[in-house]
Amino acid sequence: MERPAIAGGKPARETKIYYGHQYIDEDDIQAVVDVLRSDFLTCGPKITELERKLCDLTGARYAVVCSNGTAALHIAALAAGVGEGDEVITTPITFAASANCALYCGARPVFADIDPATYNIDPKKVEEAITPRTKAVVAVDYTGQSADLSPLLKICREHSLTLIEDGAHVIGTKYQGQMNGSIADMTMFSFHPVKTVTGGEGGVILTNEESLYKKLLLFRSHGITRDAAQMKHEPDGPWYYEQVDLGYNYRMTDMQAALIISQLDKLPVFSKRRKEIVDRYNAAFSKLPELFVQQEIPESDTTRHLYILRMIPEKLKIDRRQFFEALEAENVCCNVHYIPVYYFPYYESLGYHKGLCPNAEKLYEEILSLPLYYAMSDADVESVIEAVTKIVDYYRR
Ligand SMILES: *Cc1c(COP(=O)(O)O)cnc(C)c1O
Repeated sequence: MERPAIAGGKPARETKIYYGHQYIDEDDIQAVVDVLRSDFLTCGPKITELERKLCDLTGARYAVVCSNGTAALHIAALAAGVGEGDEVITTPITFAASANCALYCGARPVFADIDPATYNIDPKKVEEAITPRTKAVVAVDYTGQSADLSPLLKICREHSLTLIEDGAHVIGTKYQGQMNGSIADMTMFSFHPVKTVTGGEGGVILTNEESLYKKLLLFRSHGITRDAAQMKHEPDGPWYYEQVDLGYNYRMTDMQAALIISQLDKLPVFSKRRKEIVDRYNAAFSKLPELFVQQEIPESDTTRHLYILRMIPEKLKIDRRQFFEALEAENVCCNVHYIPVYYFPYYESLGYHKGLCPNAEKLYEEILSLPLYYAMSDADVESVIEAVTKIVDYYRR
C-alpha cells in the first residue's frame, strides 16, 4: 500500500511521543537498591508486604503475587480446576494470555463476542456460549473499564462456573463503588511496564476464597508444601516438605515487589492524571462525528490503561492503517489493541477461523491506541489532539 501524504503543513509535534511509558522516580530506585543490600532477594519480607498492600487496596482477603500476569492467570485456571476437555469462555479482544491460560491446562478457549459500544465481553454472549464442558469465564477489563461483573457473576453462579477477572488493565478502577480485585472469584493484575503500576514484570491473583488461596500458593511454588495439614506422610523432621501436586516456579523477586510497593504509593496520582487525559481526549473527539468515543457503563469508575481512538470508516477517506501512518507522520506513535486472538496462526491450527465474533472483528478494523501515560505533559496531550483533529479534517468525506 502507498504511504499516505502527511495531512499538510509541519508535523503536530517535533519529537516522537510513545503510546505508553513507565514512570520511575528516585523513591522507586531507592526501594529496589535497599532490597539489593538486604538479606532476601526472593521469598523475603517485600513479598508479604506487597500482598498485604494489595489486599488493603482492593479489599480482597488473599493475594498471591507471581512472576508475571500470565503465570498468575495460569495458576488461577488451575485453581479453578480447569483441565483436559474443559472449556473456558473469554473475549477475543485481549492479549493472547487471557486465552492461552486455558490451553496451558489442556482446555479449549471459547470466544464470546464483545459489546459494540463498551468493547467488553457481552454477558449475553457468554451465556449463549456455555456448554456442559464449560468450567470458567475469563473476563477482561479492556482498557481499564470494568467488565460488567454483576451479570457475569450471576451467570457463573447459575452454571457453577468460576469467574476469573483478567484485570491486567484495571488497577485503580471501581465497579459499583468497590475496587476491582475483590469482586470476581479471582482477579489478576499485571505489573508489566506498559500497565499503570509496574515491577518490570509481575502479577498477582486476588481472591476471597481460602480454598482457592491454598491452591494458588501450591501452584506458584512447585506444588510443594511445608504445611503438615496438607501432607500425605508424617514429617521426617524440621526440614521436611512434600510435593503434593504439580506446580511451577512462578515466584516474584523482592526487587520486583519493592518496586511495585513504591509504585502503588503513586497510584492515586497516576489514576488522577490518566482520568484528566482521558477527559481531554473525550471532550475533543466527541466533537468529531468521524470518530466514535468508547462508551462507559455507569457502574465503572475507570482508571483508563488504554485510550482507544475508533474511526467511523464510512466518514473518512482513509482506513485504519493509513490513519496509523498519518499519526506516525505527525510524530504520534500509536499501537493497536488487539488483534482478535483467534486470528493468530496458532489458533487457526487449532481450528478457529474468522467470523466467530463479528463485533470484535469490526472493532479491530477501526481502532488505534493513542498515547496515554502518567508522564505526558499538557502540551503532549494537546499535540496528540491536534494531530488527530488535523488528520480527520484533512481526510473527512
Ligand atoms: C498485559 C496483559 C496480560 C499479561 O500480563 P503479563 O504480566 O505481561 O504476563 C494479560 N492480559 C491482558 C489483557 C494484558 O494486557
